[in-house]
Amino acid sequence: MRRAKIIATLGPSLDDPVRLRAAIEAGVDVFRFNFSHGSVDDHRARLELVRELGAASGRVVGTLGDLQGPKIRLGAVAEGGVLLKAGERVVLVAGESSLEMTHEDGVPVLPVVYPALAEDVSTGSLVLIDDGSIRLVVERSDPAERRVHAKVVVGGSATSRKGVNLPGVQVSAPSLTEKDREDLQSMVELGIDWVALSFVRRVDDVLEVRALIERLGGRQPVIAKLERPEALDDLDAIVSASDAIMVARGDLGVEIGPERVPAIQKEIIDLANRRGRPVITATEMLESMIRSPRATRAEASDVANAIFDGSDAVMLSGETAAGSYPVEAVRTMARIIEVAESSAERVRAVSPDTAHAVGRSVAKAATQIADEVDAVAVLVFSLSGESVQLLSKYRPNQRIVGLTPDQSTLQRFALMWGTDGAIVPTEDRSLDLMRSADAVCRSGGFGRVGDRVVIVAGVPGGLGGTNRVIVHELGDESNLTVGGR
Ligand code: PEP
Repeated sequence: MRRAKIIATLGPSLDDPVRLRAAIEAGVDVFRFNFSHGSVDDHRARLELVRELGAASGRVVGTLGDLQGPKIRLGAVAEGGVLLKAGERVVLVAGESSLEMTHEDGVPVLPVVYPALAEDVSTGSLVLIDDGSIRLVVERSDPAERRVHAKVVVGGSATSRKGVNLPGVQVSAPSLTEKDREDLQSMVELGIDWVALSFVRRVDDVLEVRALIERLGGRQPVIAKLERPEALDDLDAIVSASDAIMVARGDLGVEIGPERVPAIQKEIIDLANRRGRPVITATEMLESMIRSPRATRAEASDVANAIFDGSDAVMLSGETAAGSYPVEAVRTMARIIEVAESSAERVRAVSPDTAHAVGRSVAKAATQIADEVDAVAVLVFSLSGESVQLLSKYRPNQRIVGLTPDQSTLQRFALMWGTDGAIVPTEDRSLDLMRSADAVCRSGGFGRVGDRVVIVAGVPGGLGGTNRVIVHELGDESNLTVGGR
């Protein structure tokens, strides 16, 4: 039984319904819609297919909308790209999505869509293009002309829409662009389960997107993508204010250097676990599988180590969005996780130190009781999903079954470690509810008559929230009579 979850990014490689179905069967728990690429219509069409095939599979499949954020990109350049040679000069023109000319006085010129580029950089600033494969150093910035004159340190061919990073530069762009606001509205309208915010710099970025979701009438939880060095200075506040965290190693590695990523990954995962937040490790996990049907040993090690570090979920990006072996990549990732989880390193015990002392102690006790009574599952009633999330952090040996009347909460369980879910008909924590939990558990295959389960619930009017642990034998009528108010 695999416990950590798999997120797969959608893209052309999974547009074929046969492949998409195979990817679901291979173990995708959550699909990521990358709003950096494609139109709203593309996302809508993919979402409909995911929902249709997800429902047909009988598994709970969640969705995650990823906002582009203030990602700086090149504009459109000539077909085949503009060749930049080490030692030569280049001019960047700020706030342009394309340019007529490719050279100015014999020097290559490149459009950069970000308008404040010339204001933000200064002499000596580094400009990295295409995940750092091309490196420039600024010689002179001319904001009046919107031009940045730079020298090429490491050359290459600069092609349309490649990412641009400015390590060490305080980028003045707002964290939510106009495009992000429009995309957020689409995500809320489409009913996507989770919203991920790129390039979070401070806690206010998370609060702003959360307020905007509420204003749009949504309830989507917010995932902070940690990929900017500034975010690392405000890590605890950002983690505490977010509903989940992503270690976005792609841009993070470009910004701070790949050699610093492994230690920071561990630090972020550890903090997210202590704060009771789901944490996703992302990017280049099985990168070679974009072109090859087999993973390298180093990649297998990377996925396994992300699990040993305590990740709740691991993510595939280009492997499933644009690779030649998307289904194989999911299968490979699922296998690596399963073997890692059954190895001697196993799953790290986590001790969240969240403020909710009652919920925390109930979750901890349920985990211990489940072991001692040899339960097959821990069932948790949850409206918002919070108590399920907290229990999941204690990494119980038994499967976790989140029971909720709310479809969107159910789909959020897809991202939570070790958690399955089922809909229960009402939010009333009454006798009927206990009965239906008993039935759902048996019909969902989570246990059979006579199996012991631990039920975690809240009694209204008491301390509020989750405050009760019940040991129940499935099918035992007499026990059901004490489950009510
Ligand atoms: C990353 O940079 O690692 C990441 C997950 O973000 P994106 O794929 O949107 O660049």
